[in-house]
Order: sequence, then structure tokens, then C-alpha cells
Amino acid sequence: MSTGLVWFRNDLRVKDQESLALATNSHKNVIGVYCFDPRQFKLNKFGFKKTEKYRAKFLIETVEDLKSTLEKYTIPLFVYLGKPEDYIPKLLVVHKISHIYFQDEWTKEERVVEEALKEATKTNKVNFVKAYSQFLFSPNLMPFQFSETPKVFTVFRKWIEKEVQPRSLVIIKQNFEQKKIDNPTTIPSIKDLGFENFSTPVHTAFPFRGGEANALEHLTNYFWKTEQVSYYKKTRNGLLGTKYSSKLSAWLANGSISANTIYNQLKKYEQQVTKNESTYWLFFELLWRDYFKYISLRYGDAIFKQKGIKNSVYNWQNNSELVEQWITGTTQSNFVNANMIELQQTGWMSNRGRQNVASYFAKNLQLDWRIGAAYFESLLIDYDVHSNYGNWCYVAGVGNDPRDRTFNVDLQAKRYDPNAKYQKLWLQPKLF
Ligand SMILES: Cc1cc2nc3c(=O)[nH]c(=O)nc-3n(C[C@H](O)[C@H](O)[C@H](O)COP(=O)(O)OP(=O)(O)OC[C@H]3O[C@@H](n4cnc5c(N)ncnc54)[C@H](O)[C@@H]3O)c2cc1C
Repeated sequence: MSTGLVWFRNDLRVKDQESLALATNSHKNVIGVYCFDPRQFKLNKFGFKKTEKYRAKFLIETVEDLKSTLEKYTIPLFVYLGKPEDYIPKLLVVHKISHIYFQDEWTKEERVVEEALKEATKTNKVNFVKAYSQFLFSPNLMPFQFSETPKVFTVFRKWIEKEVQPRSLVIIKQNFEQKKIDNPTTIPSIKDLGFENFSTPVHTAFPFRGGEANALEHLTNYFWKTEQVSYYKKTRNGLLGTKYSSKLSAWLANGSISANTIYNQLKKYEQQVTKNESTYWLFFELLWRDYFKYISLRYGDAIFKQKGIKNSVYNWQNNSELVEQWITGTTQSNFVNANMIELQQTGWMSNRGRQNVASYFAKNLQLDWRIGAAYFESLLIDYDVHSNYGNWCYVAGVGNDPRDRTFNVDLQAKRYDPNAKYQKLWLQPKLF
């Protein structure tokens, strides 16, 4: 029987992994591959590294965990620091691969990689099998075409709530076992990716490590051990500490946990502990996550363009001094500054913070929103192409916010940081 290859991308898990489940059910032999793609560590057109050290470290931890979990199923994970189109063709020959299973990614850079891989393997007679496993509500279940994705979130939400159920969880074939396959590859270190070792401040709001095991442990803590999810709606606009929101985004972004697994636990929690506004609201936010994926499916590369999906023209500035002030946390607003310093020192920022600093960048400073989005892409530990560019378009007024609001950062600071505790935490050496 031929061998199946799972090409891991942003689906770095074993639980509820559609490609892996399909491969183990269809082949006696299965291997996995993950490529740390050097293109992801280059400078982007605005001069920021596409991936900064925080996400790089989290990714290494994630791949280490994936490799050791797969070994329990006798599946080797081949890991390379190089382009998939340079390494996968060699694996196809050595391991007599007939099928490549992978998560479908449709944004520009990801499409380029897939096309390059197809080109490099065109003489190999290999079948490509794609899955949309990053969604809670997969496009296969949807009652509409991508072109019909509603322009407003509420319409989308009501549609889903009325008509669609998430798919069932999928599992790797039970008792999957194969003869040991030699795997001489090793996982690159942080230095191999071009960074020095570092540590984050002890008061970081995101002190967590990457990997599926940590994601599942965190989920258990947030739901079952601390029952914090029961208070999510009250705490979600917080700025301080590890518990104000679920903090699941970084694991969701690289796929070390699936939205489906979270939903499944949420439903169990609602049956066994409590069902309230907070448990609903976590579901509501997961729907936003799906919604931005549908927006990028509908509008394609428009989410990266200055005019956005609305095709709106504004008088965007490109003032490098103002950009620098924003990045280094030296603007006129201490609230903005504290958030930007937190991001720079930890790779994390709360949702409330992100909304404020993005609005300040695009609406107050009137700077080209794509620069801010590219900086977020570089720094955020939970960077997700759809959520990042979708939210930036939304806040900058070129997306799908019907109200096109500007945040008053002073009022927001008074409301969400009344005693300036958060600002003091990150600005202390400068101000106090
Ligand atoms: C300018 C800007 C840029 C952003 N960039 C990203 C990004 O690159 N990656 C990312 O995951 N989120 C992004 N967000 C959305 C949001 O800020 C984060 O998902 C959230 O802060 C993560 O924290 P949490 O996991 O504790 O979220 P919770 O509040 O616990 O929410 C649970 C989950 O719902 C999803 N979610 C929540 N809010 C949003 C939202 N507004 N849009 C999409 N999904 C949401 C996330 O997957 C999150 O993990 C951005 C928001 C803004 C305003």
C-alpha cells in the first residue's frame, strides 16, 4: 500500500486533525513534514521581520510537541529549515508517496507556496488532498457561496446560528502503527532562525508555551479547573494578568488546537457546569474568527490593499517619525504607549489594547494602516492572517464596520484602566 504524507501548515496538532485522520485511515504508512520556511523570517516591504522572536519561539515549541506526540503513533515528523517545494519532492521519492494531505490556505503567500510545491512535484504523479480544518463552521457546511458572505457580521452570525452545526471531531485511526521509519531531521533552534535566546518579563499576560499539550492543558484550566469561562463576558476587556480572556488565540493561530475542540468542551461545560452570557460570548468571538476567514475568502487580496474591502480612499500618511513613536511607545497617549511597550516586550496585547492602538494609528495619526498591520504581523505571538488584516481593515475604516468608529483613547484609558495600573506596569521606568 502506498504511503501518505501529511504536510503540516497551520494545523500543528494531532487531535481533530482532518488531514492526519484522512491519511491514517487511507494508508498503512504515513509520514509528516513541517518546513520552517525562510520566507517567513525575511523583512517585509515595510522593513519588519515577517516573524519576530516571540512567534518563532512559540512555533519551535509547537513543532517539538507535535513531533513527540506523532512518535507515539509511530509517525515520523520530518522537519526542515527550508522551502516545502525544495524538500517535499525528495520525500516523495524516498518514501513512495502517493497522496499529500494538507490544510487549504488561500491567502496570497500561502497560495504561492502551494503552487510552487505543485510545480516542483508535477512529475511525481501525486494526489493533493485538502481540508479546511481551521474553521469552526467549515465552508463545506455553509448554506452560501463565498461570494455571498454577508458584509455585516450580525447577518453572518444569525445565518449560522439558525442553519449550521459544526462538524464532528475527527480522530486519528485507532491503533495506527507502522514499522519504524528512519528520520534524521532535527528541529531548528531559535538561533538557527536568526534570533538570540531571550526571556519575557515575569509580568507578561501571556506566559504560556507553544504546543498541543499546553493548549489542551490551558483549555482544561480555563474551563474546568478555574471555571473562568463562566465570567468571560465580564472580564474580557481586561488588560492585566493571565485570566481576563481565554488566551487561546496563539494556539488557535498555528492550529495546535482546533476551534472545534474548544466548541466541543464549551458545549460540555454548558451541560455540566453552567450556560450563561459568558459561555455564549466565547462562542460569539469564535464566530468572529470564522467570519474574518470568510471575508478573506470573499474579498481575496483586497484585505491587504490600502483601500481594503470597501475600496475607500483616505489621505493616508507615511510619516516614519510618527510610526517610530507608535512602535516605541512614545506617542502623546500613555495608554497607547503602554500597550505598544507590552507588545514589544512580550509579543502579546489584549483585544482592548489592539483596538485602541490600531484606531490611534489609522484614525488619529492617519498613518497608512498597512504599516501598523505589518508591525502586528511581525510581533504578535498569535498572528493570524485573516484576523489581523480583517481587524485592521475594520478599525481603519476600510473593512466591514458599518459604523466606522474612532476610539477616544483617553476615555478608553479612564474606563478600562481607571487607576492607571496597567499603564504603570509597562511605563514605570519612564514615568514613575
Ligand atoms: C487590530 C487587531 C489585530 C488583531 N490581530 C489578531 C491576530 O493576528 N490574531 C488573532 O488571533 N486575533 C487578532 N485580533 C483579534 C483579538 O484581539 C484576539 O483574537 C484576542 O485578543 C486574543 O485573545 P484571546 O485568545 O484571549 O481572545 P478571547 O477574547 O478569549 O476570544 C476567544 C477567541 O475568539 C477569537 N477572537 C476574539 N476576538 C476576535 C476578533 N476581534 N477577531 C477575530 N477573532 C477573534 C480568537 O480566536 C480568540 O482566541 C486582532 C484584533 C485587532 C483589533
